[in-house]
Amino acid sequence: MPTNPLLDFTDLPLFDRIRPEHVAPAVDALLAEAETALQTVTTPAFPAEWLSIAKALDVATERFSRAWGAVGHLNAVADTPELRAAYNEAMPRVTAFWTRLGSDERLYAKYKAIDPAGLNPEQRQAHKNAVRNFVLGGAELQGAAKERFAAIQERQAELSQKFSENALDATDAFAYYAAIGELEGVPEDVVSTARAAAEAEGKDGYKLTLKMPCYLPVMQFAKSSELRQTLYRAYVTRASEFGDPKLDNTALIREILALRQEEAQLLGYRSFGELSVVPKMAESPDQVIKFLRDLAVKARPYGERDLADLRVFAAEQLGMTDPQPWDWSYVGEKLKEARYAFSEQEVKQYFTAPKVMAGLFKIVETLFEVNIRRDDAPVWHPAVEFYRIERAGQKVGQFYLDPSARAGKRGGAWMDDVRARWLRPDTGVLQTPIAQLVCNFAEGVDGKPPLLTHDDVTTLFHEFGHGLHHMLTQINERDVSGISGVEWDAVELPSQFMENFCWEWDVLKHMTAHVDTGEPLPRALFDKMTAAKNFQSGLQTLRQIEFSLFDMLLHTGYDASAAAPGDVMALLGQVRAEVAVMPSPEFSRTPNTFSHIFSGGYAAGYYSYKWAEVLSADAYAAFEETVGSNGEPSIETGRRYRQAILEAGGSRSAMESFKAFRGREPQLDALLRHQGMAEAHAA
Ligand SMILES: [Zn+2]
Repeated sequence: MPTNPLLDFTDLPLFDRIRPEHVAPAVDALLAEAETALQTVTTPAFPAEWLSIAKALDVATERFSRAWGAVGHLNAVADTPELRAAYNEAMPRVTAFWTRLGSDERLYAKYKAIDPAGLNPEQRQAHKNAVRNFVLGGAELQGAAKERFAAIQERQAELSQKFSENALDATDAFAYYAAIGELEGVPEDVVSTARAAAEAEGKDGYKLTLKMPCYLPVMQFAKSSELRQTLYRAYVTRASEFGDPKLDNTALIREILALRQEEAQLLGYRSFGELSVVPKMAESPDQVIKFLRDLAVKARPYGERDLADLRVFAAEQLGMTDPQPWDWSYVGEKLKEARYAFSEQEVKQYFTAPKVMAGLFKIVETLFEVNIRRDDAPVWHPAVEFYRIERAGQKVGQFYLDPSARAGKRGGAWMDDVRARWLRPDTGVLQTPIAQLVCNFAEGVDGKPPLLTHDDVTTLFHEFGHGLHHMLTQINERDVSGISGVEWDAVELPSQFMENFCWEWDVLKHMTAHVDTGEPLPRALFDKMTAAKNFQSGLQTLRQIEFSLFDMLLHTGYDASAAAPGDVMALLGQVRAEVAVMPSPEFSRTPNTFSHIFSGGYAAGYYSYKWAEVLSADAYAAFEETVGSNGEPSIETGRRYRQAILEAGGSRSAMESFKAFRGREPQLDALLRHQGMAEAHAA
């Protein structure tokens, strides 16, 4: 057995033994191994055969990514200064290797020379993806075009980084020192934090900032319209010409757009939008644009109704006859309080962690015909649990569950893979998949179990949905098994699908027991929660469509190289005129902090949120249509869903999988109905 636990691939990662000093030597050894494998398979004499390449190269890169995955995981859930240093030290070598591998011309030539006729369907799909990724990575370009492509990539990385730094710095640069008299209505904890922040600087008053934990509650609760206006103006003009010129993102946006357009054209596409959808489920930018416009038409009456509700409430209850953009959050919050009075605090008492976990496992076990039981594994913290999923006594997959928040653990919730299902080309043994499920629930107090908000419960179901996609797959080819190789705009289907159960009374009631009395959640409280769920869904939908449509139009019809300053805002103005019902002020410069598309991975892809929601809602509707008289979901439908969507993974297109399950293409109706945007049949 190797003395470095990161080099032990016998079975499960040795999370209890990995130390910062193991990182560098393991990365060195595994990188060298992968480099050697790359050299070997790219020699002219090496056969252009799928299995031969997999045996040499994939086995080596899999060891490397499993070890590095374990380091990355510990960095996220058990961070220490020493581990972080080791991680950051190795990071550039790791990134450089993957970049090199993805654009290696000799390897690309080898893959291209493989005859797909000799492959099974799973291998054929993985092979197709591999060749496509090489092409999109510029592997086919020659000479000056290749150099230009590389230069564009590099410059884009710089610009994205600068864009997000400017957005962050512009957010941080703002502070408003309020007097106590201006803070009426602002929650106590926000007020004390603001006082402490001012005090730390030796200043009087209360320091208000544009960071979410301060900005949001001020906009929602501060009674003073002037105060809200001050913060609102600052917020929507961040990183624009109205602030520090050094932090203005306007010119960066134009350069980023021009570079993307040039990149697309080098690869033979008319626009970046066209390039962006190549590996996605959507077939063309036009299809996306039509989808968004259809949805906008359907959502518009509900958005108008939501806005009218707000106006009436503002006038009648708050004496505001002409609400301004900085008033809407405040009015919305007051209307919500008036309509659906209940507190998260009250709801939480019914959701204890053990009861919720048991409920989740029960629905998964019933619907997907598996058993979940405790299993043993080396872990990084005593609170971590390890489970095994079995069907008919056979191991299907395993997962770690790290439920609670603690120091050194990154916030939020996520699913990550430890290893994928893979019929190993080196040993011929079928490797079963393993997942990480990480949440950040609050710890229990006074010896009581942890209490979950309904949001926590939904998040848990969401991540577990990703986990099921990874673990229940029956595909034997690593790069298309489970979540791997699934189109980016369809990957949220199984996760958002699972969220639906958190709004199903007959499922939810089994997951609740009051922490003190053991009583189940009262139906009346559940009804209030459901009613509040769709509060202002029309306005919210239109807002998402506005962002998505703006993003796609900006990356298709818009000619960035010929554009004048201000054209981006003009385009946004057109989109708003078409889609929005809520008026926007002239001075707003929200694109200047639209990090999703200018420094995240969402360029010409923001629509994916809505796209995947349509899929998951429509898939869930199949369960609503077949629900039993006892209110329980149909096991038969569960089996079909499992086989068509979860087990197939990335082995075929998401559209094929969807049609295999639903017998037709996705439709909008279910999403609209779930979000309260469908008329009842009888008026
Ligand atoms: Zn997700």
